[in-house]
Order: sequence, then structure tokens, then C-alpha cells
Amino acid sequence: MTTRRTLVAANWKMNGNKETVASLLTAFKSGMNGSSDVAVFPPALYVAQAAELLKDTDIAYGVQNVSAEASGAFTGELSLSMVKEFDCQYALIGHSERRELFGETDAQIAQKVKATLESGVIPMLCIGETLAQRESGVTEDVVRTQIQAVLDAVGIAAFDTIVVAYEPVWAIGTGKTASPEQAQEVHAFIRGMLAAEDAAVAAKTRILYGGSVKAASAEALFGQPDIDGGLVGGASLIADEFVAICNAAK
Ligand code: PEP
Repeated sequence: MTTRRTLVAANWKMNGNKETVASLLTAFKSGMNGSSDVAVFPPALYVAQAAELLKDTDIAYGVQNVSAEASGAFTGELSLSMVKEFDCQYALIGHSERRELFGETDAQIAQKVKATLESGVIPMLCIGETLAQRESGVTEDVVRTQIQAVLDAVGIAAFDTIVVAYEPVWAIGTGKTASPEQAQEVHAFIRGMLAAEDAAVAAKTRILYGGSVKAASAEALFGQPDIDGGLVGGASLIADEFVAICNAAK
């Protein structure tokens, strides 16, 4: 018997403008049936607008990246005190695009998770293997290394709070969703790894799946025992599609 409530998050990446932020959030507010928790990650410049539009709703919001540094000469970065000032509940950390395009390492990501936890913001930690890694049979090794770096920095108790998003890189933005069984296999592995440290914490950790989730695939994915929701990119920019994904949770 699990007590984990489904969580579905929208990662808008570097897309949209004031008008789309307003229209998407208006549609989300009126369309959700309440069967899942919902969070949105707008580009940082639009967080204040999202905060205003989402006040007095159950829809959470956050930033797509944070700095582990408190302040200072870090041009272009955002500190957690800034994130807190806008009442963000979540911070996305270690998205594969940050890892691949901006060279973020497991060690840096672990420090970001640590700083985020210390600030009281919930880290949504993204992990996942590339196609080459999957094809060479090292998916579990990759995921283990990514999780272990965070475990070493913050300990197992923090996984009470941390949300894990398993996102196979080959499925992100490619239209290739992992099958529910493929995703479940890795989710079970992740939960097993956490359970080896503390079974009670592992039973509570929300592990989301990300990678080309659509309304048509959401119900089967969310029906898997260790899949506790989704992190959605492309489909979260289409109001009806994202609402249907959120409403697919039972
Ligand atoms: C993502 O970027 O986190 C993601 C899952 O994107 P998409 O749904 O477009 O594959």
C-alpha cells in the first residue's frame, strides 16, 4: 500500500512568453481534476508572473536550475534566496540538458541538491542514461552513480523530500517514450537502491518518469507500481495535452 501521491510537472525549458504563460496557466487552473499534484517550471523570468497567477491554487511552481552558491560574482546564476523570495516550492536540478549542454557534473548537482534542501525548497533531481549507455548495458550503473553522488552529499533521509525524475536521455524530446515496463524496471532499481539504505524512506520517495510523456501514454506509465508521476517537456506546452496527462492519474 503506497501513500505516494502522483505528481506531474511541466518543464517549459526556454519556451514561451508572457502571453503563453498566462494562457497555459489559466487552462491548467480550470482543467485539473485534482487527481495529481501539479508543478510548473517556467523560464526564470516568468516565475513572478506564474506566482501571481497561481496564488490561491494548488499548482506549485519552481525554477529550472539553481546555483549552490549563496551570492556573489556568478553572472547569469540564480541563488536560492532569490528562489525563496518568489516562494518557489521546487527546483529542477541536474536536467540532462544541464548535464550535457552546460557540463554539470554529478558533484555539482549533489551540491545544488544540498543547498536546495537547506533552503527549504524541494529538489527535483533528474537522472537517466543516454542511448549509447542503454545499448551498452550500463543503465543501472549510470543511474546508480548519479544517485550515489547525491546520497553521499545529503544522506538517505533527504530522499523523504527529494523528488527523483528518471528521464532516459534517448526519450527526451525524441517522441520515443520508454515502455511502461522499461521505465518500471529502472524505477524499481532506483527504489531498491534507496531501500537498501532505508526501506521506509524509499517507500515514500516520489520517482517520476520523463521522456516524451503524452496523454496517450500517461495512464499506463502512472499505473506502474514504482512510477509516481511524470516530468513533461514538449506536451506541457499544449494546454489540453498537459491537463489530460495530469488527469490521467488514478
Ligand atoms: C524533459 O525535458 O524533462 C522532458 C521530459 O521533455 P519531453 O517530455 O519533451 O521529452
